[in-house]
Formats: sequence, C-alpha cells, structure tokens
Amino acid sequence: MLRQYELLEKVRSYDPDADEAMINRAYVFSMQKHGSQKRASGDPYFSHPIEVAGILTDLRLDDETIVTAILHDTIEDTVATPEEIEKVFGKNIARLVDGVTKLSKIEAQSESQRAAENLRKFLLAMSSDIRVLLVKLADRLHNMRTLHFIRNEDKRKRIARETMDIYAPLAERIGMYEFMQEMQTLAFRELEPDAYASISRRLEQLHKGDGDLIERIGRGIKAHLEAHGLEAELQGREKHPYSIWRKMAERHVSFEQLSDVMAFRAIVDSLDGCYRTLGLIHQRWPMVPGRFKDYISTPKRNGYSSLHTSVIHDEQMRIEIQIRTREMHVQAEHGLAAHWAYKEGKPAAKTQHPWISDLIEILEHAGSAEELLEHTRMAMYQDRIFAFTPKGELIQLPKGATPVDFAYAVHTDLGDQTVGAKVNGRVMPLRTPLDNGDQVEILVSRAQHPQPSWLNFVVTGKARAKIRRFVKSKEREETVALGRKIFDEIVQRLPGALGWEAMAEALKRLNLHDDDSLMEAIALKRIDDVHVMEALMPGSTGVAGVQPPPQRQAISIKGLTPGVAFDLAECCHPIPGDRIVGLRREGTGIEVHTIGCQRLADGIDADWVDLAWGDESDGGTARLCIVIKNEPGSLATITGVLGNHGANIVSLDQTNRDGAFHTFNLDVEVHNIQHLMRILAGLRATDVVSTAERL
Ligand code: MN
Repeated sequence: MLRQYELLEKVRSYDPDADEAMINRAYVFSMQKHGSQKRASGDPYFSHPIEVAGILTDLRLDDETIVTAILHDTIEDTVATPEEIEKVFGKNIARLVDGVTKLSKIEAQSESQRAAENLRKFLLAMSSDIRVLLVKLADRLHNMRTLHFIRNEDKRKRIARETMDIYAPLAERIGMYEFMQEMQTLAFRELEPDAYASISRRLEQLHKGDGDLIERIGRGIKAHLEAHGLEAELQGREKHPYSIWRKMAERHVSFEQLSDVMAFRAIVDSLDGCYRTLGLIHQRWPMVPGRFKDYISTPKRNGYSSLHTSVIHDEQMRIEIQIRTREMHVQAEHGLAAHWAYKEGKPAAKTQHPWISDLIEILEHAGSAEELLEHTRMAMYQDRIFAFTPKGELIQLPKGATPVDFAYAVHTDLGDQTVGAKVNGRVMPLRTPLDNGDQVEILVSRAQHPQPSWLNFVVTGKARAKIRRFVKSKEREETVALGRKIFDEIVQRLPGALGWEAMAEALKRLNLHDDDSLMEAIALKRIDDVHVMEALMPGSTGVAGVQPPPQRQAISIKGLTPGVAFDLAECCHPIPGDRIVGLRREGTGIEVHTIGCQRLADGIDADWVDLAWGDESDGGTARLCIVIKNEPGSLATITGVLGNHGANIVSLDQTNRDGAFHTFNLDVEVHNIQHLMRILAGLRATDVVSTAERL
C-alpha cells in the first residue's frame, strides 16, 4: 500500500507548489472515516482510495484531483456527509467528490447493452468537470486490478463486462489509451479466461522461438534511422491479448494467419522528423498496402495524432509501426488528462482553478487539437450537448444543434443525403434542437441534396459551410431551369412559330452570349417578358391576342427550389402558419403536410423536405368539425360568425344528425393559422356550439 509520504513525494515530484496540508488532511480524514472497513483482498479499505490517488499522480494531475481521489468513497461508503467535506476541504473539493459519488450511484443499475449505452451517456453528461471522470476511471482501473480477490464469480463477471462495455470505451473516447488497454486486458482475462490463456501461451512461444525478437527488430529499425542521421527512441511491444483476440474475431483469421502481433513505436524530436522517419522506413521495408494512416494531418476526434504504417519486415513478417513526437506520445497515452497535468514552470497556485490556465493554454495551441478543445469547452462551460449515433458513437455539438448539424458532424456525405431524422426512435422535423443524450438516426436518400432552407436552422459552422457551398453551385443551375420554364411560356404567347435562327438573333439583340445567360436573366427578372418577346420576334407584342402573364401564386414555401411543383395535402389541409413538411416521391410533385399529420407515418420511404411558409403566403382551406345544438337558427349563427370573420365556406357536410346535437364538417377558406384560431374562438363563444375543432 502506498504510504502517506510516498504519495506526497509523488505529487511533489511534479508539482512543488501542491497544497500538501490539504493532501495530508484528506489522507487522515479518509483513513478515519473508512476505519476498519476491509477490501475483498483483506487489505484495509483505505488502501483503495490511496491507490486510486497514486494512479492519478502517474498522470501528474493537480492537487484537487488527488484529494478528490482520496475522498472519493467517503460519502458513499462511510458516515461522512457532503457538508462535512465542504467544511473541511472547501466548495471545490466538495463539488468534485459529489460528482464522483453521483457517478457511482448510476453504476449500480446497468445490465443490458441498452443500459450500457445510457450509462456511458449519463456518465459523460454528468461529468461536468472532466476531473470527476478521471477519478472515476482510475477508481475502476484499481478495482479491476484487484478484481481477482472477489470470490463471487458472477459479481466478477458483471464488473468485468461493465468495464468492457462502459469504462474502457469511455477511456478511449477521451484518449486515455493506457487506461483503456489495461482495463480491456483485465476484463478480457475475466470474461474469456480460455481465450486469454491460449493467446498468452502463444505469445510466450513466439518469445521462446526467437529470443528477444522484439528487441532485435527494434534495434534494427533504430540503427537504420541513425545511419541516415535520424535520432529516434524505439519502443517495441506485443499487441495486447484482447486486441489480438478482437482482430481474430473481426477478421475471421487464426493466430497463425495474424502476422502482425508486434507493434513498434518511433518517438522523434519534431514533426518534420515523423515524416522523414516514415520515408526511411518505407525505403527499407515494403509497406503493406492499405495500412498507412496519417493521423497527424487528420487527427482522430479525441485529438490523437501519429503516423501509422505496417511493413513487411525481414523473414516475411508484418509489423506495425507508429511514428510520433514526444508531445504526441504523452497526449496519446494520457489523452485529455494530459491537459490537466501539472506543467513545469507553471505554479499551480497562480490561479484558484488550475484548469482555467490550462484552458488558456489549450486555446493558445488550439490549432493542433481542435477536437480536444471542443471537449474541454464542453466540460467547462456546459455549452455542448452529446448525441449518439445508433451504434452508440458519441457526437458532440453546440447547444441548439439540429439533426442536420448532427449528420454533418458524423460525415459530410451523411449530411448531404439527409432527408429525415429519428430522434430516440421517433421521426422528428429536421429543425428540432437536439437534447443531451438523444439518440439520432439520420434517414438518407441518394437522391437528396442539401436544402437551402437548412441554413435557417443549422448552428454548426461545418453544416453551414457545406450547405452554402452546395447551394451556390446548384443555384445557377436551378435559376437557369426556372428561366427556361418561363421562357417556354413566353414562347407560347408569341403570335407565331419561331424560326431556327430566332434564338441566336435574340441573344445578339439582348447582348448575351448564350442560352443559359438568357434563362438566368429571365428568372431573375433582369429582362421582362415584353423585351424577350420583342427580341425573339420584333413587333410581336403589338399584335392582338397576346395572352396576359399568368397570375402569381399566393402561396410560397421556403425550402423548395423555385419552380418545383407542390400540392397541399388533402388529408391535413395545411394553411399558412402551420408547421409543415414535404414528402417527395419519384415522378410527382411535393406533398405538403402539417407536421402532426397522421399520414406522415406512411411517408417514411419518401424523401422528406423541411419546409416553412414564405412570409407573403396567404390563404388556404382548413377543415373543421363543429358540433352544434339541434335548434332553429343554429346553422345561421355559425355562418354568421364565419361571415363576420371574412371566412368563405367552401363546403359543408352534415355527418351526424342524431339526438340533441348535429355534427358538421366544413371546409373554410382562411388567410392563415392566426385567422383560423380567431374563427374557432368565435365559434366556441356562441351558445349554440358545443365543440369546434380543426380536423
Ligand atoms: Mn472506489
């Protein structure tokens, strides 16, 4: 067990300004509170929080995190109260310990795979301060290291399964690969003891066959680099049993077929050195096609950067090589924790919250780890939400983000082809703001393109940029198509047929170089119809019988490309002001439905188009159901109300005439939803109306 002075020495070794008195206080407090409690190993319980603190000192975390680790089980497992901790250690520590305690409470409920997903989600959402999560992960790691002491096999398996499903992926997500690998190895040993034993045995045999094979290969690579004037630290290792096992399972290969069980790491001084190292290695050993990955130019989402390649080493053996700088290496091993680690030359006491200065530091170096910065801001400011893909992948978005932002965050192609979204299993409009923990499934169609109307609600820069770029490229194309339609109408109105040279002549007269420019000019109303007609056929507009231009449509809908035909659906009779959505099926125009329409459920296979009414839209037919008293003059009262509101009755249908009440269905022309609401209120206000509803 780690002694008090050993723990202090560890902290002091990287942070000479740590609050030692506070650490000592925590040590004594925890020891007293845990008293004579014992671990399954027979050790005093108190050894556990100290070991957890020890794990965190390896990550060089600040004194508050260390103290939180020492106290992390006191509220849950002893008589200590949050108030007591706040009194002795202050608000900050109390908040952190409380956070860890809350995480531990959620832990007890997980069972199925579904629960595992929820749990990951809650753990992240509740870790308002990332240090809470770091303590929780270290806690789990130590529990895994001591798992074999637990006698009850079911309990051991349950803990191992939970570690595999929840904590190892969490560690991976924040880039703590060391934690992830150790957790996976320990859990794998518990869950698949036979497979673990067999793989371990085979790895041992590899050693026997060739002695220090790994060391020899490592030395060879180092010598090759040095011969070309490049200094590198070479680390060689076998792959972890669990990752070997997973590869065997995923690729359906046997251990013998799985040639790359060894991995090497070259750590060099500079970014430049990474690429030179790569070049030298590829010159000397043939690379395995398809295995090269440049995570330096495109870091992983959690900030990980390195070059990965596999080469065929002598003796026809494939080996994997990772190339990175020292900085990237620390980042890769410790992930997010690396950013909370105490940095030399920066006194921790400078500010009350060391992570604020860390945040500033991250901001200053944001270029290299943009995604990491996003994580950090989430933890600090709570201005982010987490949403999940159906496979459980976590997508982080700013607050207010919609399914379209989500789709673009996952992949540009997914965003481009979005036609609808299921949020937590229900089809929702694309403009719906997502909530923390939502599971989002994007419905796609290859025929879909980014919609200009999306610009009205997307919040992420990525989505905005992608949509704009597409819209710009499409805009002219569509404008030209619209112009061509209008042009065809104009030609119809001419008093005679056009000769084959008429177009060329017209372009010359209008001083335009091609058809498309003319169509564009027509669509944008830069040239009016009369000028076009005169250009095509001089003198034609003076001739009698030329048809007047068609009337403008009173309804306009944002989100539709100009000229696209649409129908207001008969089932729900949308009127301006209703929230609407369009269904597009092949070969037909767009059906416009209200968002609450029952029929939308049938339209899952159709393309969904997010729509909104144009500002100047006016007029629509609403279907009402009215139940009125069966007495003389009732109907006159109804028509009177409608007349007073300036609403026109299109049709009236008596659906029920039994007893004291009569039921009517009416179709009424109204301006918009507000108009309809006033009419319904007016109807309900009369003493003959029992109920008045929109159908
Ligand atoms: Mn614990």
